[in-house]
Amino acid sequence: VATLYVVATPIGNLADLSPRGQEVLRTVAAICAEDTRHTGQLLSHFGIQQPLVALHEHNEEMLAERIVARLKAGESLALVSDAGTPLVSDPGFRLVRAARAAGVKVSPVPGACAAIAALSVAGLPSDRFTFEGFLPAKGAGRRERLQALAGEVRTMVFYESSHRISESLADMRTVFGDGRPAVLARELTKLFETVLDGDLASLQDRVDGDDNQRKGEFVVMVQGAQDDEQAQLAHGRRVYAKLSEHLP
Ligand code: SAM
Repeated sequence: VATLYVVATPIGNLADLSPRGQEVLRTVAAICAEDTRHTGQLLSHFGIQQPLVALHEHNEEMLAERIVARLKAGESLALVSDAGTPLVSDPGFRLVRAARAAGVKVSPVPGACAAIAALSVAGLPSDRFTFEGFLPAKGAGRRERLQALAGEVRTMVFYESSHRISESLADMRTVFGDGRPAVLARELTKLFETVLDGDLASLQDRVDGDDNQRKGEFVVMVQGAQDDEQAQLAHGRRVYAKLSEHLP
C-alpha cells in the first residue's frame, strides 16, 4: 500500500541513518526534501540516487495536494528534512496533515532528534518535559515567551543557534534566575560535541568566555521550577489579585 514515510536523518554523524532509513530512501518513488542540495549530499554518501522534490515552509501548503495525489495514485514517497526528525522545528506538518486527511498511510522511520538526544545525556528530570523549539528571534518576544514559562515545573527544551545563544541565556537568567540548573548540548554527534552543565549564570559565563563555545548548534535544557519557586509565584499571583481588586 502506497505510504508516505517520514524518515529521520542524522543530526551530524552520518552513520546515524538507520539501515531501514537507507532502505526506504532507496526504494520510494521520490523524496520530498527541505533542501534538495543538502539531501543530495546525504544520499550520495549512501550511493542512493532518487528524484527529489523541494518541500519547504514556503511551498508546502501549495505542493501538499500534488504530493498527496501521487500517493493516492499508488506511489510511495519519503519526507526528510535537513537534519533529524521532520516536523520537529522543521517543515512537514502540512503535508502529513493533508496525507492523513486523504486517508493515505503515513509511517515513521524513526532516528535522530536533537532534543531527545540532548535530553538523554543531560541528567535533568526527563520523565516529563516540554519541547519549546526556537524562541522568538527578537528580544521582547523572546522574554514574553519565557515569562509564560516562569512557573513551568517540567524540564524545558529549547533549540538555539550560535548567534543568539548568549542573548537567550541572558534572558533565561532574568526570568528563571541565575541559579536555575541547566544543561547546554552543542554539536551532538559531531567532532566538537560538548555537553555543559551547571546553572544558567555559569553556562552563560562559559559561552561568553570562549568563542569556541558559541559555535555550532545548541539544545538548551532548563530544569523546571521547584515547589518553593512555584509557591512563591502562586503567592505573587494571589497578592496581585488582591491588589487589583482595589485598583480602579
Ligand atoms: N528536526 C531537527 C531535530 O529533529 O532535532 C531539528 C531541526 S531545527 C531547524 C535545527 C536546530 O536543532 C538547531 O538550531 C539546534 O538547536 C538543533 N540541533 C540540530 N542538530 C544538532 C546537533 N547536532 N547538536 C545540537 N543541537 C542540534
